[in-house]
Parts: sequence; C-alpha cells; structure tokens
Amino acid sequence: MKQSEMLIPTLRENPADAEIKSHQLLVRAGYIRQTASGIYSFLPLGKKVLKKVEEIVREEMDKAGAHEMLMPALQPSELWKESGRWDTFGPELMRLNDRHQREFALGATHEEVITSLIRDDINTYKKLPLVLYQIQTKFRDEKRPRFGLLRGREFMMKDAYSFHDSYESLDETYERIYNAYSNIFTRLGLNFRAVIADSGAMGGKDTHEFMVLSEVGEDTIAYSDESDYAANIEMAPVVTEYEKSDEPLKELEKVATPDQKTMAEVAEFLNHPLEKGLKSLMFKVDDRLVLVVTRGDHEVNDVKLKNLYQASVVELASEEETRKVMGAGFGSLGPIHVPDEVDVVADHAVKYAVNVSCGANEDGYHFLNVNPGRDFEVTQYADLRFIQEGDPSPDGRGTIQFARGIEVGHVFKLGTVYSESMKASFLDQNGKSNPMIMGCYGIGVSRTLAALVEQYHDENGITWPTHVAPFHVHLLALNVNKEEQKNLAESIYETLKKEGVDVLYDDRKERAGVKFADSDLIGIPLRITVGKRAGEGYVELKQRKSGEQTEVHVSELLTRVN
Ligand code: ATP
Ligand code: MG
Ligand code: MG
Ligand code: MG
Repeated sequence: MKQSEMLIPTLRENPADAEIKSHQLLVRAGYIRQTASGIYSFLPLGKKVLKKVEEIVREEMDKAGAHEMLMPALQPSELWKESGRWDTFGPELMRLNDRHQREFALGATHEEVITSLIRDDINTYKKLPLVLYQIQTKFRDEKRPRFGLLRGREFMMKDAYSFHDSYESLDETYERIYNAYSNIFTRLGLNFRAVIADSGAMGGKDTHEFMVLSEVGEDTIAYSDESDYAANIEMAPVVTEYEKSDEPLKELEKVATPDQKTMAEVAEFLNHPLEKGLKSLMFKVDDRLVLVVTRGDHEVNDVKLKNLYQASVVELASEEETRKVMGAGFGSLGPIHVPDEVDVVADHAVKYAVNVSCGANEDGYHFLNVNPGRDFEVTQYADLRFIQEGDPSPDGRGTIQFARGIEVGHVFKLGTVYSESMKASFLDQNGKSNPMIMGCYGIGVSRTLAALVEQYHDENGITWPTHVAPFHVHLLALNVNKEEQKNLAESIYETLKKEGVDVLYDDRKERAGVKFADSDLIGIPLRITVGKRAGEGYVELKQRKSGEQTEVHVSELLTRVN
C-alpha cells in the first residue's frame, strides 16, 4: 500500500492525557484516535493489527471446538431483568430507551442473550456440550476510563459461552479453552501468566485470569518463585476465617471514627493479633452489613500518610442475590457503586467485601465513617490476611514474589446461575429436566493489542512482532525527486506485491528524517531503504527490533525478505 494514499497521521508530541507507552505510541504512530473519553476509532493501521490479533484468537478458538456467531450489542432490558443484573450490574451498564420508551442496554457482556437463545433452541443432553463465541464490541461505562485501549468504555472482546449436561463436561471444556488461551497469548508473543482469579469466595480452580506482565498493569500478581502458583492478590486472601465474638465489639466505636489510626492501633483496639500481611478486617454487623477496615496509604489534606486504616460499611446481598452477582461472569465484580466522594482506599475495601463476602451494593449502600456499635450491632468478625512478598507460597513450594499484570483474558465456571434464573434446562438421559451448566470465557482483544505495545516498543516507537505487525515490510524511498531512487523503489514495491509480501511503501514527498522517524514509530518489522546507492542497485535492510542493518543488492532482496 502506498503511504501517500493512506491515513497514517503521525504526531511528534504525546497527547496530553496519555500516561502510558501503548496509549502514547498508538496515537502518535497513527493507529488510533480518541473520539470521546474511553472511546476510540481504529485507523487503517490499527484495524489491520486488530484483525491479526482477532485471527489468532479465531484460529485457536475454532481449534478448541468453539463455533463463531454474532449477537446484538443492543439488548432488551427484559433479559437483564430475568437474570437480575438490570439491578445489580450498576452504572457500568449503558442503558437507553427506544422511541417507544422501551428500555435497552448496550451489551457489556452476553450471558443473558446467549442463555435466552439456547433455552429456546436446545432442550436435550444430546445437543450438549455446546461452545459458542463471538468477537464484538462491548460497552462498559467505566468509572475511570484510561490508558487508551487498556480501559475503554467501548472495546473489542472475544466472549465465549459453553453449555453442558455435567460438571465433568464443563471441566473438560474449561481446560480446553484455558489451553487455547495459553496458545493465543504465546502465539502473540506476549509474556503472560495464568493466575488464580478468586481463590477466596469461589474456590481457586473455578476461575483464572490471563495476565500480561507489565508495570502499567492495574492488578498485582502473587507468584511463587519455585512453583506454578500464581494468583491475583486482590482476590486471593490466604486465610479467611470467621471468629465468633460475644462482645458486640464496643471498642469498634472508638476505631471507626473519622480519625486516622494505624492498623496496629486498630488491631490493638480489637484485641486482635496483628500478623504479617494483615490488610483488612471484616466485621459482620448483621446479615446484610459488613464493616471493612482497610489498611492502606492515604492522602489526608494533601499529606501522604502511610499504613492508615479506613472504615466503611458494605451491604451484602442475600445468598440468592449473591450467587447471581458472583456467577455473573464478565463484569461480575464490576457493579460496585461507590459514591464519587469515596476515595480509592474505600473503593478497595468495598471490593474486598464484594469478593470475599459476595456482596452486592447499590447507590447509597456504602457509607464512610459509620459508627458500628452505635449505628449497628456488631456480631461477628473475620480477618483476611493477604499474601505479601516474601511469604511462603500457599502450595508449600517457594516464596511469594509480586508482579504487575494486565488482565487480557478471563475464564470462569458459571455453573447454573444463569440457567436457573433464566430457566434454560435440558432433558437428561432419564427424561429428567435439569438446568444447563455453563462456563464463560473472555479476551479483551483491543486491550491485548495495547498490551502488545507495552511489551514491544523502544524509545523510538513500536517494535511489532511479525505475526501481528500491520505490514511485513516498510519500503522507504528516501528522495522521490531522484529518478533512480523512485524507479528502484517502485519496481521493488511491484515485485514484493506480486510475491504476496505485505508492504507499506513510503512514497511521500517528505524529508528522509521524517520518513525514518515515522517508520520507527510505526514499527513494521523489516525496513527497506532505497537511498544513495540506488543507482548501483543497493538498498539497506534493517530489522526494526534488533536494529540489525545490512546492505543488500536488489537481486538478493526477495530471499532476504521472505
Ligand atoms: P477489569 O478487571 O480490567 O475491569 P473485568 O474483569 O471487568 O476487567 P471481564 O468481565 O473479565 O473484565 O471481561 C473479559 C475481558 O475483557 C477482560 O479480561 C479484559 O481483557 C477485557 N476488558 C474488560 N473491561 C475492559 C475495558 N474497559 N476495556 C478494555 N478491555 C476490557
Ligand atoms: Mg471491570
Ligand atoms: Mg477483572
Ligand atoms: Mg475479569
């Protein structure tokens, strides 16, 4: 393709809001443009890479026995009401009305749509198992859209759903998709790790996240330096134990005031041994309310304070509601309504409560600085010790280390949460009706693209691995006003095209410096420069990633390129 005919608007400066490399480089190199906060257009280069990532995902999903389909992004509220998530998903779900004032959602995920589809068309074990997937736009009104494609409000997801007549069958498919994910991220050339996503409330083997290792990742992974153990620490308390306390913990009144105290002080008040790794204390106030005291770093009146605690109360859902939320799959832990004035630490406290105690909350269900004992009777408390660096690994092998990760994939055993609420059942061999057993499996395709750039760049731009690069070869004619350079470049361009080499030809009337800088920025793996020695038939061949550079005669070019 001729660069003069393409839309590749490169920029010399980083966009003001771009904090991380993938965001900066994808914008600067002309792959994406922001349309609104968390909403991006993919320009031709971006679309080409997206397609290549999608293709690898497709190939591996197909190999794993999944079948591609396409579901609507626009979904009637009735389905979400059936599953219960119209109420529990929270403000992340984009909602709108049609001209008849009927309510709709823009799909944040597709459990509801697929479950309603399957219940209408499948009713016997003979048709199970069934694994279906799609690659499609998802909408989530994220509280903090940021980091370019890493956390968008509109983004591309590959989402798959499986239906089974037994848990054994679910386990088999889960393993197959898990392996497909490993293949996908390996083929993409990503340095990643599969981690236990939730060992606390759900049992560690039922859900895994695929994490691309990166400093800009929003998750922290705890992994053993000697074994395969790896978990997302936010979701991996080592110990969750409830203890009975006859005292309604009157002492709590003293600690759960707006004063800031250290965790040691809190623990002392509670007469609780402060152990290494203790991050959070949870107190069961009654059947619906839990007080969470969290240790963390705060900023109070612009002063940074370390290791302070903050108290918040979270309302828990009933067990039934809880199952819906916990089994909600993609975004299941997303619907946390936190009023804007609540700071980050409180936000985490809510998350722990949600994860560990399976809470669902809604607007106004979360208060800062409530006074338990005065406002609620406290009946029970539990402690959560989270893994810290240097701890022994829970599997007994090795020591825990921390790393940051970007969640690019998530596999999840749903069980019968949706099939029960939405009445998707099948007749088994004995003619008995049972709810279908389900799994769901997501990959953030556009997030994966950004994760690739996080791992493949240098100070001059992107350094794509070959199989996802927008083109294989970048052909530069340094001075198109020089007849010999232009002619040689054109003939190389024609030959490469004829040979099926995916080539981008910089035929623009730009200075050599601009062409080199743009080429480094865009990051195509192989560069052919037609310059001063064009008359003798020599061109320069340069590997973008290694910087390795040689002079080659055109007669040898094809063998060197392929
Ligand atoms: P996160 O914890 O980052 O918010 P999630 O757990 O809510 O992600 P899932 O519901 O598991 O996401 O969705 C499946 C995949 O979709 C994720 O593993 C991630 O790769 C991708 N994804 C989720 N939210 C976004 C987003 N806002 N922008 C881009 N990709 C996303
Ligand atoms: Mg989320
Ligand atoms: Mg997540
Ligand atoms: Mg997830």
